[in-house]
Amino acid sequence: MSALAPGATIGILGGGQLARMLALAGAGLGLRSHIFSPYADDPAFEVCAQKTLAEFTDEEALARFASHVDVITYEFENVPAATAAFLDARKPVRPNSKALALTQDRFVEKRFLQELEIETAEFADVADAGALARAIAKIGRPSILKTRRFGYDGKGQLLIRDGADLATSFRSLGGAPCILECVVPFNKEVSVVAARGLDGAFRAYDICENFHEHHILSRTTAPADIRPETASHAIALARRIAEAADYVGVIAVEMFVVESNASERLLVNEIAPRVHNSGHWTLDGAVTSQFEQHMRAVAGWPLGSPRSHGRVTMDNIIGEEVYNWSRILSEDGASLHLYGKREVRPGRKMGHVTRVEPRTPR
Ligand code: AMP
Repeated sequence: MSALAPGATIGILGGGQLARMLALAGAGLGLRSHIFSPYADDPAFEVCAQKTLAEFTDEEALARFASHVDVITYEFENVPAATAAFLDARKPVRPNSKALALTQDRFVEKRFLQELEIETAEFADVADAGALARAIAKIGRPSILKTRRFGYDGKGQLLIRDGADLATSFRSLGGAPCILECVVPFNKEVSVVAARGLDGAFRAYDICENFHEHHILSRTTAPADIRPETASHAIALARRIAEAADYVGVIAVEMFVVESNASERLLVNEIAPRVHNSGHWTLDGAVTSQFEQHMRAVAGWPLGSPRSHGRVTMDNIIGEEVYNWSRILSEDGASLHLYGKREVRPGRKMGHVTRVEPRTPR
């Protein structure tokens, strides 16, 4: 359980923008990054000290990778369980495989939350079309059918309306195991981005509020416009989750806020065992960015201060919006981050821009 020394190498599974920003933050602390990804074009390959271009099932490559690094982390939750187990036998994997297992499958995740007495949308397991009819009888319509695994940005989800044919609905998601959720009449979507250190220390950023367009996060603002007691409760829930999973690293917990009778209820929607898009604002808006915080945590280092510099807005730059780069660069107070992706595609996250409104001195 000892801290790595500066100069140590952090192995990162996945080479997208999250891995890129982790590697950049690590470099600022004198930590080297070794990126493992099957995609030659991945943006993190440009900024790392070492790289492995191989499939996640290639045990020879995984063994070599493990021998070159001191600790292993990841930028996405769909790391195959066998890959995580293979690596874990050789070097510490942080966050641990329990965190991976419970966030890869929406049903397992919801059951875990239930065991912790954390409220979620009402849900039912849907193994086949017959089970969907039984789930609808329990939960009603409209409701949302979600594949248990591999869903993101609204993919693998279907709104089931009155009159929809259930067999067709189930087939349209590929016949994969699903869960059915009731539609939550939420007022706001927020997330807690926090970190737990190797020593159990826990630090949370300001709760942030998330706005989506076409199922993709478009804007995050921090702090969220919620009551102070709701914010404290949200942080306590994230802490309960992180402690129960014996978690090390940055964690993001997405929640729905439902206003009822002059109070605010929190329902947990999803847990991400990694740095998260709703935490990108911390790059310019907090003392320690989520990327630096994650590298500190997995290296066994003390966590940094999550204190924010003021009110922050983060806008994602999606697809062709990237062509506005020059205008954003000329804007006073805007901080532009581009991910170096060569191909512009509709819906692709190309970068983000942060604007910080400093706190006025009292
Ligand atoms: P998810 O992939 O579960 O994060 O869902 C993507 C988005 O769909 C969420 O950010 C919500 O805007 C919406 N959504 C997901 N589940 C529900 C639900 N049970 N009730 C209402 N909206 C939902």
